[in-house]
Amino acid sequence: MTKTLVSVALWALAGYLLGTWFNPHLGWGVLVFGLLLMILVSGRQVSLITRWAKDVESAPPVSVGPWDDILSLIYRKLRNDRQTIQRLENDMQRMLEAAEALPDGAVTLDGQMHLTWCNRSAREHLGLLSETDVGHSIFNILRAPEFAIYARQRRWKDPLQLHVQGVDQPKTLLLQLVNYGLNRYLMVTRDITQIEKLETTRKDFVANVSHELRTPLTVLTGFLETLQDMPPDSLTSDQRLRYVGMMREQAARMEAIVSDLLTLSTLESSSPADAEAIDFSALIHKAMQQARVLSRGQHVFVESYDDSLQVEGVASELASAVSNLITNAVRYTPQDGTITVSWYRDDDGSAVFSVQDTGIGISAQDLPRLTERFYRADRGRSRATGGTGLGLAITKHVAMRHDAELRIESRYGSGSTFSLVFPATRILPSEST
Ligand code: ADP
Repeated sequence: MTKTLVSVALWALAGYLLGTWFNPHLGWGVLVFGLLLMILVSGRQVSLITRWAKDVESAPPVSVGPWDDILSLIYRKLRNDRQTIQRLENDMQRMLEAAEALPDGAVTLDGQMHLTWCNRSAREHLGLLSETDVGHSIFNILRAPEFAIYARQRRWKDPLQLHVQGVDQPKTLLLQLVNYGLNRYLMVTRDITQIEKLETTRKDFVANVSHELRTPLTVLTGFLETLQDMPPDSLTSDQRLRYVGMMREQAARMEAIVSDLLTLSTLESSSPADAEAIDFSALIHKAMQQARVLSRGQHVFVESYDDSLQVEGVASELASAVSNLITNAVRYTPQDGTITVSWYRDDDGSAVFSVQDTGIGISAQDLPRLTERFYRADRGRSRATGGTGLGLAITKHVAMRHDAELRIESRYGSGSTFSLVFPATRILPSEST
């Protein structure tokens, strides 16, 4: 404004001076010319500003006289706003990325329960497709009747447990609806398939343990009651010895189960003990002594050990795994069968302990379940030979704790090979042996 007034004053002064010195007409002419020039310049400036206003993202006109100050204020404000918008957009993007990465599924629904957005986990849990499902009613997408009943409550205190068909297997989801904002809903889903499986396994395990212990306990109680009800001296000393012997057998069976359970629980819950150099051949020799006692000369043993091959590990754990595999071979191989025990370094660098027998073998359908706790392929033989059904579960745990693999190959009726394969990283260099 000041600049404009100064310009008008200068043109007026110039007009006045020229009018006084030369001719008043010349003075007026100069003044009118000056004012017209100012109007022209001003019009040009306004058109430059108008052009910029149509595209405020572009740089403002460089010089527009008296408008410069206003323009620089507007331009600064615009720049600040743009930075704020950019910051908000970045925040929003980060929040969306976080929501997308949530391990729980999240789905937003509008007042009519139409899907407005969902994250990756929700797409996986519910098989949603962002491109096609957005805008559609959730009732058309999730057709389980229990979901419809749950969703129509409109007040959701507890989550709903929902069974859905996943891509390759059924899934169990925990689904919770929540109100947020004005008439908007958030649906949260959590995949609890594994938790449910674990819970079932835990329940099965408790049932199995109870069952395993109840059988010998019932037999033991039966004997005790019989003995109690009998008149004193009605048993001969031979009978008494036989009864006590049978009772001891049942007690021993319970003891074996409890002892194996404790071993298993220690293996599952404790961190591995410090590894030491294991003279594996010595460990096998010891187990073979027990095996010979168990076999009572009924089997042929073939042995081949690389005495220089040592691994790092925990002696007590490895001893129990080795003894398990060898005694199993004896127990599940009929008389005159051959049991081949080897300890060698394989071509791929791993160390292999293998027990091969010519025994009863295992059918293909039993093979994958053999290391489950209390799983027995041949129940009768297992019980008759004092098996607890926990030996291979223990062996598998020991293998895992030594980065080793328990491999089982078998054909029903023609024998089995159980191997513990240790990676090269577990093998001690032979100089230190
Ligand atoms: P168990 O105490 O019953 O022997 P394990 O866990 O050691 O329990 O073995 C599980 C089951 O695997 C056994 O009940 C048996 O049916 C089968 N099995 C184990 N080793 C052999 C083998 N060498 N030959 C045939 N079957 C075997």
